[in-house]
Parts: sequence; structure tokens; C-alpha cells
Amino acid sequence: RAKSLGKGCFVVFSPEMHAQTLSLLKLERDLRSAVDRQEFVLYYQPIIDLQSGDLTDVEVLVRWQHPDRGLVMPSEFIPLAEETGLIVEIGQWVLQEACQTLRDYQQQFASATELKFSVNLSSEQLQDPNFIQTVDRVLSQSGLDGRYLKLELTESMLMSHEEKHIKTLQQLRDRSITISLDDFGTGYSSLSYLYRFPLDTLKIDQSFVSRMISEPKDAEIVNTIISLARTLNMDVIAEGIETEEEVLHLKKLGCERGQGYWFSPPMSQEKLEEHLQAGPQWFVQQQPMNPNFS
Ligand code: C2E
Ligand code: MG
Ligand code: MG
Ligand code: MG
Repeated sequence: RAKSLGKGCFVVFSPEMHAQTLSLLKLERDLRSAVDRQEFVLYYQPIIDLQSGDLTDVEVLVRWQHPDRGLVMPSEFIPLAEETGLIVEIGQWVLQEACQTLRDYQQQFASATELKFSVNLSSEQLQDPNFIQTVDRVLSQSGLDGRYLKLELTESMLMSHEEKHIKTLQQLRDRSITISLDDFGTGYSSLSYLYRFPLDTLKIDQSFVSRMISEPKDAEIVNTIISLARTLNMDVIAEGIETEEEVLHLKKLGCERGQGYWFSPPMSQEKLEEHLQAGPQWFVQQQPMNPNFS
């Protein structure tokens, strides 16, 4: 970014760069008004017990319902939201909406009484001095018990301000909230920190799962992560499962749970409600969904 080059440093803009800058500025302006106008929606992806086929958790994934662009995916706006700090407000909305929705489902659907919702966090949220206060407010406003809430962090978020993060995670644990380490294996993987943080679940990154069948090295990494989780007394979820072959292989390696297009792509609230109405069994009761048809 030109800004980071500092004063007295000239940057020559080409017409393309100018256009890019303008559209980035427009995106930032749109994102600010999206917060005010509440243009975000949540999508939900099931996390399945590979042995029983039951739905155990649901990962909550945000989308932006843009007035002209339609549904915008997180990869297109989360980085900008993080850079501008807007993620703190967006994240609060996501957390509130997720907890309220799950609380409503607990009262509405018998199949939702033990369900957990898993919400992604950005580093800016974890570092927000009011974060725990926000969590307390959300839990009390929604009436949700913390044990039904899971928060997903990444390795890189924990690498700085270690003592502070240990304290924050401990405060979450005091509220019975559980923690998943997302995209595990892609970060620094300095394993010693796994002992120091109160973590509950490792989520094996989808890149290893998708290469696991064709690349023995990736199968070995998956195997290692599963044993590591066992040693650390954590549970493990495989991300990005797209084929039945992957399911069978993961079961053979002792992986407990998984999520991916094989079971279902992230779906709308209406779709999720149809499934909850039908009961907790996911895999047996229905054919895997093809992501292209949802
Ligand atoms: P993530 O937390 O690792 O979420 C999993 C992503 O993988 C989701 O993409 C999901 O749609 C996609 N996925 C699931 N199954 C499969 C599969 O079988 N194959 C493939 N190729 N992909 C699969 P999505 O929804 O686009 O989200 C992307 C990322 O954006 C998330 O990665 C997460 O890091 C971030 N994100 C999403 N929602 C939020 C949020 O509310 N707050 C924050 N801070 N970040 C979020
Ligand atoms: Mg995640
Ligand atoms: Mg992930
Ligand atoms: Mg990811």
C-alpha cells in the first residue's frame, strides 16, 4: 500500500491502479454502510460425527448480502473488514445473531438441544479490550449457555501477546465456551504452544484432506494431527471432505468428526431448519448434497 511507504515517497499510479483504488474505496464505504444497514447474513455448515452420522456442531459462516453485487463471500470482504477495524462490529453482530438463533432452535427443535454453534473469530476481536464483555452481553441477551458456543481461532492469532491470550481463553473456558484451532497445520505449528493454551479441538485444514488420497505425505500429516490431538486430549474435525473415499480413510485413521461438501455446503437458515425438523441423523437420512445444486 502506498500509505505504508511513508511521507516524501512518491508513488506513480497507473490508470489500473487508480481504478483499483477507487473500487477499494467504494468497497470500504459500502462495508461501513453494510454494518449500519445490517446487510450480513449467516450460512451454516454441518459438522458430522463420522461414526454415527449425527449432526453435532454447525459452523457459522458470514456472507454479505450486497444491494447490487448479490451474495459476497467472506474472502472478498473479511480482509478489508480486518484492516479497517470494521470486523469488530461485524463480529459482534455475527456472535449475537448466532447465539440468538441457536437459543431459538433449542426451544423449537428437539434435535437442537445438544447442538453447538461454532463461530469464527478474527485477531482484532480477540485483541479487543471489550471482547469478554461483549461475550457476556451476548450470552445474557440471548440466554444461551456458553457450553453450546464454540469459537474458532487460528494458530497465527495466538503467536503474539501470548500471556494475554491465555488469560482471554481461560475467561472463555470459565464460561464453558470451547475453542477450536481452525486450519490446523497451515500455520507456524510450533507445537509447544498447544500445551500452553486451553484448546479443545483441532480442525485439520482442508488442503491436507483434499490431497490425502493421492499424496502419502498429506495422509501422514493427517495421521500425525489425529495422534497429536489424542495425545493432547483434544478432539479433531477434518475440514473440506468432498468424497466418500475421504470419509472412509478418515474413519480408518480414527478421526471422529468432519465437515465438507460431501455432507453439505454451507446452507441458508431455512435449509438448516428443514434438517433440524427432520431430526439429528444427517448422513443416513439423506443423500449427500451436491454443492452445485444448493
Ligand atoms: P473457515 O473457517 O476455514 O471455513 C471453512 C471454509 O471452507 C468455508 O468457506 C466453507 O464454505 C469452505 N468449505 C467447506 N467445505 C468445503 C469443501 O468440502 N471443499 C471446499 N473447497 N471448501 C469447503 P467460506 O464460507 O467462504 O469462508 C471462508 C473463510 O472466511 C472461513 O474459513 C473463515 O476463515 C472466514 N470467515 C467466515 N465467516 C466468518 C466470520 O463470521 N468471522 C470471521 N472473522 N471470519 C469468517
Ligand atoms: Mg472456521
Ligand atoms: Mg477452516
Ligand atoms: Mg480457512
